Amino acid sequence: MNKRIYITTTIPYVNSTPHVGFALELVQADVLSRYHRLLGRPTRLQTGTDENALKNVLAAKEEGITPIELVARNAKAFRELTVALNIKLDRFIRTTECQHRAGVHWLWKRLRTGDVYRQSYRGLYCRGCEDFYLEKDLTNGLCPIHHRRPTEVAEQNYFFRLSAYQSQIEEVLETGRLRVVPDARRNEILSFVRSGLRDFSITRSTERAYGWGIEVPDDNSQIIYVWLDALTNYLSGLGYGTDEECAEFWEEDTLKIHVLGKDVWKFHAVYWPAFLLSAGLPLPDTVLIHGFLTVNGRKISKTLGNVVDPFRLVRRYGSDAVRYYLARALVPFEDGDFSTERLNHLYNADLANGLGNLVSRLTSLCGKAEYGHYGTDGAPQAPEGYHEALDEYRFDRALSALWETIGSINRDIEVTKPWEWLRDNRYELLHQKLSEWLGSLYGIGYWVQPFLPDAGKSILDALSEEKVTSGPPLFPRIR
Ligand SMILES: [Zn+2]
Repeated sequence: MNKRIYITTTIPYVNSTPHVGFALELVQADVLSRYHRLLGRPTRLQTGTDENALKNVLAAKEEGITPIELVARNAKAFRELTVALNIKLDRFIRTTECQHRAGVHWLWKRLRTGDVYRQSYRGLYCRGCEDFYLEKDLTNGLCPIHHRRPTEVAEQNYFFRLSAYQSQIEEVLETGRLRVVPDARRNEILSFVRSGLRDFSITRSTERAYGWGIEVPDDNSQIIYVWLDALTNYLSGLGYGTDEECAEFWEEDTLKIHVLGKDVWKFHAVYWPAFLLSAGLPLPDTVLIHGFLTVNGRKISKTLGNVVDPFRLVRRYGSDAVRYYLARALVPFEDGDFSTERLNHLYNADLANGLGNLVSRLTSLCGKAEYGHYGTDGAPQAPEGYHEALDEYRFDRALSALWETIGSINRDIEVTKPWEWLRDNRYELLHQKLSEWLGSLYGIGYWVQPFLPDAGKSILDALSEEKVTSGPPLFPRIR
């Protein structure tokens, strides 16, 4: 029961400021980790920033500042986003930290002898993807994602013998030893693996990297491939390679969950397990792959000018409301849409009228009836389907389960008309019913905490008072 839990997000490139798409990933990871904490499990949540990518050097060049200035400024914005969204974080790791560099060198040296070899290489490299392409995988000669011609690269690099892990990777995916959520994604990954895994370059020349990144141990002519570097953050953030302070969070009996977007599964479900197998380290247990967020039905892009600033949303609606939208309004594994109209609608319907109204009705009734002292010890029963939904990472369904209860108490209050009992001084009847409703509200306040930590805390605080009184509205209506 008290199994340790380790949850990570991917670490974004910091060549620009964060947008609402990454907020989705942070919120999913935080909801999960707060849920496990609520169940009393030792839980660790980590995010951070990938600062060694070539595109950071290029972005800095464009701005006329040094890469160090650029990554420091943008990393700060990402860290501020975790605060704005009320993410309960244990570690924010930057890949320019000494501790991370030590972890990468440690892992490099642990890779099985013979798995790393030198070879001359010629390939097509997309700097947007930080990845090589085969001619056949290009669209009219262009990167299918960035619509740019990849650069031809010819140099001597270190290679990783991925081909040696073909059958092992297939097996861990087939048996579910590495669980992929959702299933549909697992099939996609398996078919990629079955099509044949090829060795790949895990370094680039220091010259091509403009000297930016982590050099190969004992060979400063080569910089370690940014993905090998970035993936290692899951270990270096625990102290691997230095003090191993939290090493137990990567042990076999820790449930290790990576939360990531659908564009990076190849790195997390194929490359990363192969590196770990080569190094003789435990594998992650689950990769949870979310879809992409569109804005008003269109892909988020700077050129379209539809980048939604998550800080602005939090300022207007509060962090709970933004978290609610991201967890409720989309199926976690599918693409979903963001629109201000829908946020306004959900805010008013579910938060102001639904939960907010219920809390204000009940607390005001308690105040008038001088009722309180409701016991708030221990974990109350969760609404039906709540735990099952979270076991399946269906954040939307867990919230539906909570809101069904909210709706049914609100309806019960309307039918019961407790204000008539108040008018007729029928306190015994009223207190009896209030006790029942407050019991349900306690359950809601308790189990809503992973999603809406502020509102959950307000509800539990209000209920723990000797005399429950109504406070300011949890979610003032927005026009
Ligand atoms: Zn690309």
